[in-house]
Amino acid sequence: MHELPALPYAFDALEPHIDAQTMQIHHDKHHATYVTKLNDALKDHPDLQSKSLEDLLRGIASVPEGIRNAVKNHGGGHANHSLFWKVMGPGGGGAPSGPLGDAITQAFGGFDAFKEKLTTTATNVFGSGWGWLIWKDGKLEIAGKPNQDSPWMEGAAPLLGVDVWEHAYYLRYQNRRPDYLSAWWNTINWAEVEQQYQRARG
Ligand code: MN
Repeated sequence: MHELPALPYAFDALEPHIDAQTMQIHHDKHHATYVTKLNDALKDHPDLQSKSLEDLLRGIASVPEGIRNAVKNHGGGHANHSLFWKVMGPGGGGAPSGPLGDAITQAFGGFDAFKEKLTTTATNVFGSGWGWLIWKDGKLEIAGKPNQDSPWMEGAAPLLGVDVWEHAYYLRYQNRRPDYLSAWWNTINWAEVEQQYQRARG
């Protein structure tokens, strides 16, 4: 059975950038529902229950058709949010140093260019979805994806993701997605993103 991971900090830890009520509803209700519905989808498939979430999503094409959409949506939702909580944290923000910082500079021409490209990509996701920094085919890429589509489904490793579903920002920012994104950069836990990068390369 898949389980809802505990939020690694208090609901109000990301204030003033992301408000406590949004964090509580987002984690305790939205993420919890993805986990519940993923487990429901897998209940008659013990062979799939024993797979890790990443393996399940990597192998989405071989998931039986009757539950494939449910696994894609709720498994993707579970994976995306599990990473999202970890790549944010109190006292976050700034720019990454070390190997990831160097790789970002090399791939995008500098941190500011990277920040602008990911912000633009996330701003322009139509409707609900995510903006991503991913590791794919041996290089860093920025991608916008709809719904809860997981980068794992295309053989990429997600390193940093920003949720642009309205439930992620509407209470504080209403329709102002760009303001939410601007604030979100102040929450990033770069040490965690660096770990994801090292893991993806290894
Ligand atoms: Mn969400």
